[in-house]
Amino acid sequence: MTAHSVNYVIIVGPQGAGKGTQAAAVAPELGLEHVATGDLFRAILKTDSDLGDEVRHYYDQGALVPDELTVRVLFAHIQRMQESDPSISGVLLDGFPRNREQADALDSALEDRGEAISAVVLVDVPRDELMKRLTGRLICSECGATYHSEFNPPANGESCDVCGGSLYQRSDDTPEAVAQRLDIYYEQTEPILQHYREQDLLVEVDGNQEIDAVTREILQALRPRVNT
Ligand code: ADP
Ligand code: ADP
Ligand code: ZN
Repeated sequence: MTAHSVNYVIIVGPQGAGKGTQAAAVAPELGLEHVATGDLFRAILKTDSDLGDEVRHYYDQGALVPDELTVRVLFAHIQRMQESDPSISGVLLDGFPRNREQADALDSALEDRGEAISAVVLVDVPRDELMKRLTGRLICSECGATYHSEFNPPANGESCDVCGGSLYQRSDDTPEAVAQRLDIYYEQTEPILQHYREQDLLVEVDGNQEIDAVTREILQALRPRVNT
């Protein structure tokens, strides 16, 4: 273990399982920076650029952005983050990798840096529960915090508890786009879990519980696997 070793932890699960919600709760506890590829793309969409137009083409259909572009955007972000704060002790990847090509790209990028994945947390929830969660999902337009109109409403019922920002529904949280994203998850993402299971990196958590109970399970599983 070198002095510069960084923890790479992956949080994975179907859309609506609570990855974003849990990442926001556990990342600070474990000294990890939460990096969600969906958030990176939503930031790019806000810019008026060719890259924004390219991403929008896929994003609005609920289709995956091409692997090459995704990998480039993610690693550029991690590099910028590490340059601006060299003391960062770890990254919690949310929404990446989504398929075998991305998993391989991550393995080889980490190998090149002499780094490795510390753990992969699977938060699982049955498919019929997910649609209810996603169609009620609300996101802060300023800080990205996640709420639910019924299951996790903001304290004042309207704006973000963290920063006071206004809340919106994602353009791809329609029943059609959600169904399309879930199909991609079960076809392309779930099969890569076997790769991590074989390396003894996979930790499975029941996501179909109260938010706080899920947080406790994740922290219990990750504390022994992450050097803080
Ligand atoms: P993901 O990042 O996995 O797609 P989110 O964290 O965005 O999932 O959660 C999806 C929706 O479900 C949000 O509206 C969130 O507030 C809500 N949610 C998250 N965890 C739970 C839970 N344990 N019980 C009920 N609702 C939840
Ligand atoms: P969800 O998990 O609910 O689908 P995300 O916020 O993770 O939402 O992603 C939103 C969209 O961003 C995806 O539908 C896809 O277009 C794009 N995206 C996010 N992560 C990836 C990835 N790893 N590879 C390709 N496209 C991605
Ligand atoms: Zn906010």
